[in-house]
Amino acid sequence: MEWIRVTQLWVDLAALPSLVRFTMIVGVVYLVSRGVSAVLGRNRIQVARPTHSQILREIGWSFCTVLVFSGFLWIAINLGIARLTKPGAYGPFGIVVLVVGLIVCHDAYFYWTHRLLHSKPLATVHWVHHRSRTPTVWAAYSLHPVEAMLNAPYLVIAAAIIPLDPIALVTFVTIMISVSAIGHCGRELYPRRPDGSPRFAWLNTVTNHDLHHERSRGNFGFYFTFWDRLMRTEDPLSRERFAMSSQRGGRYPTASTPRARNAEASAQVASSLDRPARMDHLPTI
Ligand SMILES: [Zn+2]
Ligand SMILES: [Zn+2]
Repeated sequence: MEWIRVTQLWVDLAALPSLVRFTMIVGVVYLVSRGVSAVLGRNRIQVARPTHSQILREIGWSFCTVLVFSGFLWIAINLGIARLTKPGAYGPFGIVVLVVGLIVCHDAYFYWTHRLLHSKPLATVHWVHHRSRTPTVWAAYSLHPVEAMLNAPYLVIAAAIIPLDPIALVTFVTIMISVSAIGHCGRELYPRRPDGSPRFAWLNTVTNHDLHHERSRGNFGFYFTFWDRLMRTEDPLSRERFAMSSQRGGRYPTASTPRARNAEASAQVASSLDRPARMDHLPTI
């Protein structure tokens, strides 16, 4: 069947198909986010606009990360560390359970590695991702290679513990890229209650992660808000900002004018990649 051959390709081929797949998923998320926000009458979350050089930089780092992730898995599979079953081996119910399990465990893995990345020794590494103060979908994988190598072992460990069905693997990776691109799309897409709070408060809203880029004062989660609530690391402005960004025609005011914000972004691009001159807004927690 065609869909099984596609999933097999996902596993067998490392570099180019992964880049194409990543580009397609991010492209679809971009178009859907524009469509949904237009239907809901929502603006971009931030007044500030991303610069072209920022977007080019995000694409470059994201493509590097795709190669690191694909390369890690490809090597682990060929060394026999990561194991795969035949497509469909667990059946439809088994695949659903596996994908849900991969998402829940990845949320924990991401939260704690993200906290680690905000510690002093790794803050310079994480700065590559945080240079995008007004992120776009292309920031989904915009990571320093060291950060990519910190994230890449997750699937290898999972596949070493439980042999992964390729269909579950492709589904999980597609969801992971989509959620990351949604979190960086710059437009709130999640439904709201009449009082302005998120309808699904357990989901990490776009505003939550956008706020993480703008302020770096919490919101370390990926899919869900469980860990941030449990560890009391929610940005205290999350609710208020969501109420603004999710209303028709609403957005929240950023700290300065768009011109000033763009000038700041340009200055960031001009500065050396690993010079920690602007690390002051990355708190160590
Ligand atoms: Zn961060
Ligand atoms: Zn981010």
